[in-house]
Amino acid sequence: MSFNPNARLDPSQVEDQRGRGIGGRGVAVGGGGLGLIIVLLYAVLTGSVPSTSEAGALDQLINQTVGQGGPAPSSALAAECQTGTDANQKDDCRIVGYVNSVQAFWSDAFARSGQTYTPAKTRFFTGSLGTGCGTATTEVGPFYCPNDGYVYIDLGFFDELRTRFGAQGGSLAQGYVIAHEYGHHVQDVLGVLRGSAGAQGASGRSVRIELQADCYAGAWAAHAVDTKYLQPLTDANIADALDAASAVGDDRIQAETTGQVNPETWTHGSSEQRRHWFSTGYSSGNPAECDTLSGAI
Ligand SMILES: [Zn+2]
Repeated sequence: MSFNPNARLDPSQVEDQRGRGIGGRGVAVGGGGLGLIIVLLYAVLTGSVPSTSEAGALDQLINQTVGQGGPAPSSALAAECQTGTDANQKDDCRIVGYVNSVQAFWSDAFARSGQTYTPAKTRFFTGSLGTGCGTATTEVGPFYCPNDGYVYIDLGFFDELRTRFGAQGGSLAQGYVIAHEYGHHVQDVLGVLRGSAGAQGASGRSVRIELQADCYAGAWAAHAVDTKYLQPLTDANIADALDAASAVGDDRIQAETTGQVNPETWTHGSSEQRRHWFSTGYSSGNPAECDTLSGAI
């Protein structure tokens, strides 16, 4: 998985807030969920952002702390992450490259259908950080917050993909995660997230929204070369993405954490479903084929 060495990165699409939250790992939003996009799911399911008294108080503290510092300094990323060579050599620059490629794909896709894509920035953080969806913590995993329009990620999650979720963690696994979260942003832009409140369960709305984001990630992968950022994907690269998608399937996570598989509480879909819908997006390259919201999944 390589970036074109001469590709020009746009680090302004990422805000680096690492080290700017408050330390500690004790406060988890929504119960310290496993998997991606727990906070978004909470918002979708309940129509509100998660708030406990602890989290609320913490948010205030964080907002004050962050607010005193003014805009986050992204100057280091801007200086370090300028070309595809940087993306090939540095972990954080590689994520910048994926953010750039995914958004270039969607910008083109929207334009082809006569629509305008609204970009969204990604915020890197470590520890915990106040967001429009409550406090982001490392435990929650990467997520998209529709309330403020940012993707949040602690880059340590990619270590967890390997150590906690058992994925191989190849480079395109990172691209898959970023593309999945931007899939939720696209759903937000298209108004999908504003639909009726969903429900958990194997064929509930939560699973359908997650599988569509997986399919959108596959559609990006099909066009990653077209964005000029990435060199042609290999079968091994795609296997990495499929492996990551499987690793965060609800059945796999449940089996590993509880020893049981209970589809009634699924929020993301099974490993097989996640592989299937990523593959559907990848083989068609067409986001219109990603209709997981109606019909069989
Ligand atoms: Zn998701």
